Amino acid sequence: MSGEILGADGMPINSNLNELTGVNGYHPDSKNGASEAHGIDDGIRDIIILGSGPAGLTAAIYAARANLNPLVLEGPQPGGQLTITTDVENFPGFEDPIEGPELMEAMRKQAIRVGTDVKQDWVSEVDLSHRPFTLRSHEGNTYHAKTLIISTGASAKWLGLPSEAALANRGVSACATCDGFFYRGKDVIVIGGGDTAVEEALYLTRLCNSVTLIHRRDSLRASKIMADRAMQNEKMRFIWDSVVEEILDVSKGEVTGVRIRNLKNAQVSEVPAAGVFIAIGHQPNTSLFKGQLDLDDNGYICVTNGMRTGIPGVFAAGDVHDTVYRQAITAAGMGCMAAMDAIRFLEAEEATHHHAAPSFAPVLVTT
Ligand SMILES: Cc1cc2nc3c(=O)[nH]c(=O)nc-3n(C[C@H](O)[C@H](O)[C@H](O)COP(=O)(O)OP(=O)(O)OC[C@H]3O[C@@H](n4cnc5c(N)ncnc54)[C@H](O)[C@@H]3O)c2cc1C
Repeated sequence: MSGEILGADGMPINSNLNELTGVNGYHPDSKNGASEAHGIDDGIRDIIILGSGPAGLTAAIYAARANLNPLVLEGPQPGGQLTITTDVENFPGFEDPIEGPELMEAMRKQAIRVGTDVKQDWVSEVDLSHRPFTLRSHEGNTYHAKTLIISTGASAKWLGLPSEAALANRGVSACATCDGFFYRGKDVIVIGGGDTAVEEALYLTRLCNSVTLIHRRDSLRASKIMADRAMQNEKMRFIWDSVVEEILDVSKGEVTGVRIRNLKNAQVSEVPAAGVFIAIGHQPNTSLFKGQLDLDDNGYICVTNGMRTGIPGVFAAGDVHDTVYRQAITAAGMGCMAAMDAIRFLEAEEATHHHAAPSFAPVLVTT
């Protein structure tokens, strides 16, 4: 089940797309600038934005305020990843923690207020070979855009255990930077053995009493420098050759530890902890761009010179291209950058067009 986010009901979110609007109470209303789409082709848009996470909605706010009336296609997870979390404490502007769904609803309303059209639809096919770009959607609609901002995000990979889904946001997390603060002075577990896992674990050693890294192999896959750093950290413990069978304790509604099985001797044991961080990687939502855009080895969109992709007029922002920071604020920042790049691209194109246009000024002919 890797590559999927599980909903609170334990169902993989990617296979339960329509129910997503209800995850964690995020119910974007379909009025007030937002609309449902059915079989439409609404002409050529200056800017279409794919995705309604922090990157997409920030891009929309900037594009709308430049009078470009952008269209946001919300995608299968309206509001993006933050709609499946509770307290967000690191997005500036809020003295007290704000619930993820509430933050995203505020961003969405702001985008609509300044002139964004938001549609509950998502793209299943793109043709970026010529402009205007053509997008075909899950709902059977066709869209055309002079510029495209791709902010389709990434999904954390999960173990796929029912107990993991049941305890999500109750001690199970996929982001140490986001949630580590809630486990200050406590014992936590990190699952994974690559660079991401070691980075998450080292970050947590600054906050937590102890960090136990559980890995299915007998050594870390992380780079040597990261692995050495982790091995030398006195707060780190390692459990090798083991997989998590269950996260405890669903009956108590909070994490008390994990039950693991040693792959070499089949021994089952329990490891107590207050928090479990799953760090087995992320999956960018980019399969529809394969063969059309430059993607790195892990499928992330490559950008250069701001947020530009290899195709003029196509920009990418947020977790869909970010393998390093993966935060709401960095995604929002990139959304701003992508919108400004797109606005300047359109302006430059318009200026060239005007410059090249034939002059119809009367010409005085003398004989
Ligand atoms: C459980 C959890 C807790 C987190 N907590 C924090 C936190 O406390 N603080 C913090 O800063 N960060 C946190 N993060 C990370 C943060 O959520 C992400 O970094 C951020 O949401 C990335 O924003 P984004 O706009 O790039 O993409 P996303 O939020 O992933 O949004 C992607 C959007 O693209 C849409 N989409 C996908 N495919 C298509 C398609 N084919 N067509 C159209 N649209 C499409 C989706 O519907 C979605 O709206 C957390 C993440 C998780 C999973």
